[in-house]
Amino acid sequence: MKNQYRSYQESLDFLYGMEKRYPDLIEIVKIGTTWEGRDIVLAKISKDVEQADTKPALLYTGTIHAREWIGHELALAFIEHITTHKDVDPVLEKALEESALYMVPCLNPDGYEYSRRHFSFWRKNRRKNHDGTYGVDLNRNFSIGFKKIKDTTSNVYGGEEPFSEAETRAIKAFVDTHENITIALDYHSQGNVFFPAHKFKHEAEIDGTDMNVIAANMNDEFEKVTGRKYGIHRGKPPAALISGSGREYYYSRGIKALVVEVGTKNIPDYMKSMSSSIHENIPALIRTFSEVVNFSEYAPRRVDEFRVEAVEPTSVTLVWKYEKRDDIFFEIYRSTKDKDACNERTKVGMAGGHTFTDTDLESSTNYHYTIRAVSKKSGYKSAFAPVVKARTALAEDEFFRFLFASKEGTGYVGQYTQETNRSHFGLNSLFVGINKHKGVCDAVVSFDLSSIPENAVIKSARFYLYPMNRVGAKIEKFGQWDLSLLEPESFSEISDFDEIEHAKAKGIIGQAIKSRQLTQGIWNFWEFSQRECELLQEEIVNRQAVFRIDGPKYLPDGEESQMMQFDIGYGKFGGGIHYRPMLDVKYTIEEKKEKLPATTCASIAKEGAKEGVLKSGFDTNGQKVYGYLNFDLSQLPDHESHVITQCALRIKNRNSFKKRSDIRFYVELAEVDEVGTYEDIRNREKIEYIGYEVAESDLVRKEYQYFNFDTLSKQVLDQMHQEGKTLKLVIKPTSALGAKKRITEWEEGAELIVKYIPKRRTAPAPVESVRISKEKGMIKLTWNRVEDDAIKGYYVVRNSFHPPKHFMDGVKLYGGKDTWTYDNFASFDKEKFYAVFSYDDVPNFSEAAMVRYDPLEKY
Ligand SMILES: [Zn+2]
Repeated sequence: MKNQYRSYQESLDFLYGMEKRYPDLIEIVKIGTTWEGRDIVLAKISKDVEQADTKPALLYTGTIHAREWIGHELALAFIEHITTHKDVDPVLEKALEESALYMVPCLNPDGYEYSRRHFSFWRKNRRKNHDGTYGVDLNRNFSIGFKKIKDTTSNVYGGEEPFSEAETRAIKAFVDTHENITIALDYHSQGNVFFPAHKFKHEAEIDGTDMNVIAANMNDEFEKVTGRKYGIHRGKPPAALISGSGREYYYSRGIKALVVEVGTKNIPDYMKSMSSSIHENIPALIRTFSEVVNFSEYAPRRVDEFRVEAVEPTSVTLVWKYEKRDDIFFEIYRSTKDKDACNERTKVGMAGGHTFTDTDLESSTNYHYTIRAVSKKSGYKSAFAPVVKARTALAEDEFFRFLFASKEGTGYVGQYTQETNRSHFGLNSLFVGINKHKGVCDAVVSFDLSSIPENAVIKSARFYLYPMNRVGAKIEKFGQWDLSLLEPESFSEISDFDEIEHAKAKGIIGQAIKSRQLTQGIWNFWEFSQRECELLQEEIVNRQAVFRIDGPKYLPDGEESQMMQFDIGYGKFGGGIHYRPMLDVKYTIEEKKEKLPATTCASIAKEGAKEGVLKSGFDTNGQKVYGYLNFDLSQLPDHESHVITQCALRIKNRNSFKKRSDIRFYVELAEVDEVGTYEDIRNREKIEYIGYEVAESDLVRKEYQYFNFDTLSKQVLDQMHQEGKTLKLVIKPTSALGAKKRITEWEEGAELIVKYIPKRRTAPAPVESVRISKEKGMIKLTWNRVEDDAIKGYYVVRNSFHPPKHFMDGVKLYGGKDTWTYDNFASFDKEKFYAVFSYDDVPNFSEAAMVRYDPLEKY
């Protein structure tokens, strides 16, 4: 298969040939000479290419690692594509006009040729080291975080000192003299994953969202072509940070820099896999090229202090800061998914002012938002505000639980690792799939359901899992990963491979993840269908739910591994509580019913009111006769700890007429004096109609008439209940044609049917006195216990950009009953904000108790 790839000389011939054919578009520049004397070349591409350096630019580097051939091949294919599509594709045409491309197809020509001719899996360059060994890992030879290691035979030997190599010096010199570069993509293989720059800190940078979005927007293009999605691995603390990489150097120069790891093998089957990697990357490159200008000096500046102002069950209100300008508007993006694209698919609104309310959302659901400013004149867009997370409020009858996988009940079992399977529980990560050493591996994830009441009715559920590494999934388009809820009777020992592998699935949950959709660094969730929610609900009485995740069960000939690794959030290599498998369950509970009899019934006619009889219609003079009812709401259960979910008036008529007229009856929620005068009732303050009107004809057909309270009426009822008022209803007749002597009498025993559930309405008191200290090299937070029996625990989040007002707006650090927590991954030298919330069993969250960490202060 190697023959299908181009040699370095063929590549040079191609590039110089293109320059000759398209002199206004392409210029080939020699930027250095390798140890073995080869030219390192860069292609400048832009409309009127001599103007290239005056435009914002995208830097593309390929094959810095000798064996990673994608970078080289993709560059050549992309250049070819540009020449054939520059007059066809308006996005490309516009990008070529306003921006420039700097492409180094192969930054390691010596290593590449060595890999082509002799040793396929050679990685470094071909310098002869002082001790006679060969090669420096060029991607460890840049200055940022450079580490000198002794072993010159190591595959990651970074050289004697930063920039000791001709190749890294060449690219450094170019980058240092081209401040017009705004985005850099460094192409590698393999893993189908992006690694945006991270500055060696575990915390989010202000432009972290920019880089995630660049990657996510490329993902949308991949998906269109091949159905594939790459991971975006940033935001989670990496166990080992890469020293001396090109990416971090470019980032240190103010460039948004990302490594793109393509494919599942370094030198894959060209026709089957390499070609598809190229096909999916070309539109993605065009997309990124078109964004270059938006990160340049010509673009409007980023929005400040973008945050959640308020959440309701079906809406989220966002606010931000920006100077008042008539030539700027704002685009708002929303997704329910982690690290999603910001494009037409996810754009939910535009605003001229500094606030936006996103409506018609699902209750108690997580949403991610970001925003950019757009210039009306140029159309250029700003960089993105850091992503804000919001969770819509619970609807009135709802509760939710975040259930975290239990330590003892969560691990993986391997076919060939039976002796050690027990030790995989509560530790580091889950291996799921198959490889030569471990055989078939299944994950087991257990949740304690005892905090969900037995009469719960589950309305929705999501199972969240964080994929931490997919490098072991080496086969393109092979296998799928399924989540099953296990039948508890069908196994007895969770650490026994055979028992788990053969345990009976009560149900397979949601959609399987196909191998091409396996991403690392992006939260994945399986969404339960209604039927699957019922299956989970059945497990509440057992107080536990055990899930299995399993992948492919065999390997094609000659293949070694199709294994996926998910985080468990426990153990030294687990990412902590923020990365623990989680079950997000929304439920309601069975309603109780109360029937309230009317306290007073009356009929109010022109000639006077009459208590004890309920009539309405038209009298002999054609004057209206009103029915009046009231209900004593104090018989309902306590307002503070109960919520009314439904309410209806049920009445029955005593008489009906054979010959029907057009009379219809309305029930009104009204404000009137107790059984007042005819004038009073005619001047009543109408609040809302209850349900739909009833026609005379209905009186014959139906035994009872039901008038259902709508949302507003229910709110009024609720308010009256709280204030200890009496509910007053008026039955009013209408007739379009005019009527006389048509009085309907209603039976006594009219009832108000109220359905309700026990649920606390108000949040507990906020936490007081949050204090910061430093302990064991970590930031520690301590707060005072809130004395309130309703409190179930405290929830702590960190936000690197603004004080979190909402419990979802940041990285979760703690949830539980303690009054302290460590922030394991926070650096001492960066400002940040913490918020502690107390919560009850609904949960209702208190106001945030905020504290700011100041790097200059002594703690
Ligand atoms: Zn590489």
